[in-house]
Amino acid sequence: MVTTDARDRLDRAQRATRDAGIDALIVTPGADLRYLTGYEALPLERLTCLMLPADGDPVLVVPALEKPAALASPVGALDLDVLAWGETDDPYALTASLLPASTTTVAVDNHMWAEKVLALAAAVPKARQVLAGTVLRELRMRKTSAEVSALRAAGVAIDAVHDRMGEWLRPGRSEREVGRDIADAIIAAGHARVDFVIVASGPNGSSPHHDLSDRVVEAGDPVVVDIGGTMPDGYCSDSTRTYVAGDTPPKAFRDYYSVLLEAQQAQCAYARSGVSAESVDRVGRDIITAAGYGEEFLHRTGHGIGLETHEEPYIVAGNELELEVGMVFSIEPGIYLEGRHGARIEDIVVCTTDGIERLNRTSRQLAVLDAGG
Ligand code: ZN
Ligand code: ZN
Repeated sequence: MVTTDARDRLDRAQRATRDAGIDALIVTPGADLRYLTGYEALPLERLTCLMLPADGDPVLVVPALEKPAALASPVGALDLDVLAWGETDDPYALTASLLPASTTTVAVDNHMWAEKVLALAAAVPKARQVLAGTVLRELRMRKTSAEVSALRAAGVAIDAVHDRMGEWLRPGRSEREVGRDIADAIIAAGHARVDFVIVASGPNGSSPHHDLSDRVVEAGDPVVVDIGGTMPDGYCSDSTRTYVAGDTPPKAFRDYYSVLLEAQQAQCAYARSGVSAESVDRVGRDIITAAGYGEEFLHRTGHGIGLETHEEPYIVAGNELELEVGMVFSIEPGIYLEGRHGARIEDIVVCTTDGIERLNRTSRQLAVLDAGG
């Protein structure tokens, strides 16, 4: 992240805090802190937090032993006060002393540890605690063009892994063996970290969040492969393809796969700025339901993605949020026949001025992988 981006984010977050009538945000290690400062701080028992007041200068409070790491991060290039506390200091009293004197409302990081929330509340007994996420999600779900570029690069990287699936996925190998090869390839493709590797063969494919098992892939198995990682700049990838190993899959599978593909295509053709998040879900669900698989599409259509794999906006019934240019999310309908097999097709897409751009581009047509042949 370039310094001007971070400065701009701090400024926008400060404005949003003021507009929300909140006196200060307290942001602890995690995606929000990385979003605002570029600092990928370790989540430790010792308190690290950014105190961002509605008015005035933000301060990063860090344990003394973490100060070098903080300054070595993009924080070092930001004009940001870094205040270190010693092992016998009370970091909560210190943070409380930095708050504006008239503070009545403090917004705490959604992922702040409960022990830290309670210690801070005790140190600022007159203040009400609210969630910082209500302020920050408005910023984080509207990506800048630099963020879209980062997510596009993440898409290219995970596509490079799917492109090589035929090298690894074949009958006779266990999901775990295939998964190990995929994990290595995720790093080789440019990710800094592997976030998840799902290889769900045959009946395991009917569980949307199956990960890896020792089950050996059989000829004709449908195999759901959902993989993702985090790039060095913090942005995440996530893409699912469903393959067939070695031989022709069951007819029942072929029947619903074509329905699934039609639904996913229709959702991608429909999604654009100005339509609601829930309507994107409905468009796919209507097609799948009309074909008789409504009960088998047992999750929402998608989730936003950025510095976290799952963030707002959620593409789900009940979310009336109007999509906007710059919002990035997955379109990933699935059909799961309990105990038999399943399928999911997932692309990350970004809302553009004329529809959406898919950030994942590998083929979605049913392909029989036969690396042995
Ligand atoms: Zn996803
Ligand atoms: Zn996924």
